[in-house]
Amino acid sequence: MISLILKELAPPQRLLKTQALKRRLIPGHVKHPEIENSLARRKAGYWGERILSQYLKQLPHDKYHIIHDLHLELNGFRLQIDHLLLSQNFILLIESKNIQGTLFFDDKFNQLIRHNDDGTEEVFEDPRVQARWHRVLLEKWLNQKGFHMLPIDFLIFFASNKTILKTHSSTIRDAQKICKARDIFNKIYSLERQYNGKKIRYESLIDIGKLLLNQHVPEIIDILKEYGIVEKDILLGVRCPYCSYIPMWYEKGKWRCPSCHTLTFSHETFREAIHDYCCLYKPTITNSKFRHFLFVPI
Ligand SMILES: [Zn+2]
Repeated sequence: MISLILKELAPPQRLLKTQALKRRLIPGHVKHPEIENSLARRKAGYWGERILSQYLKQLPHDKYHIIHDLHLELNGFRLQIDHLLLSQNFILLIESKNIQGTLFFDDKFNQLIRHNDDGTEEVFEDPRVQARWHRVLLEKWLNQKGFHMLPIDFLIFFASNKTILKTHSSTIRDAQKICKARDIFNKIYSLERQYNGKKIRYESLIDIGKLLLNQHVPEIIDILKEYGIVEKDILLGVRCPYCSYIPMWYEKGKWRCPSCHTLTFSHETFREAIHDYCCLYKPTITNSKFRHFLFVPI
């Protein structure tokens, strides 16, 4: 039997690249605050996704196949799905959110508004709008591939129990599709009752899963370009694992920190530098680039 999780959850590329950029951007650069804000948001988002993935692992293995972080292309549009549940009865898209505080769903203008303690407000894209659009795109995508038997539904998942959800009206659109934390199980069981009865054979379910994985198109992210950062603003060299100083000095196979005077042999020390190079520039590194970026003498 194919395993329950067809595509595991992994730290998103954009999070890893933003972390590498934060480590490598020269001190005092004007973009530091923006990068740190973005990094905090992305870490919180990933935490929420991990919570959800832990819940989804508890679903019956013989009923659901799960794909995390799926990217598809449809007629020039990119379709990015956080979490996808496949069953013989229906397909479920789940948008995961981790936004703290008090949130208002505004049905009139389709907004999600956060009311902060200091009286200010922040607006976010209404996740219901995004999920509805993703459902339309996925339906079209599957139709083009010859699969049109399975109904598609969606849920909006808020990871934290501490998030307060409010609305100005007593009834809002798709309220039953919004849930927090463990309530996800009740929502899924409710959808099971709604979509009672198998629509496709088990073999067809596997075919759909394989097709989605084969057509997954990883996003190409140029993080330097996104933040308008030029190469000269990136620190070269190995980072000290103890005080974070860059660059350490290479001395006959060891690395010495000129700031805290640590001497290390650890391969992890320069592995991080190679990882950062791949995150910021490209996924492969030549010998000469390796020596240049790590300050290793020829
Ligand atoms: Zn140091």
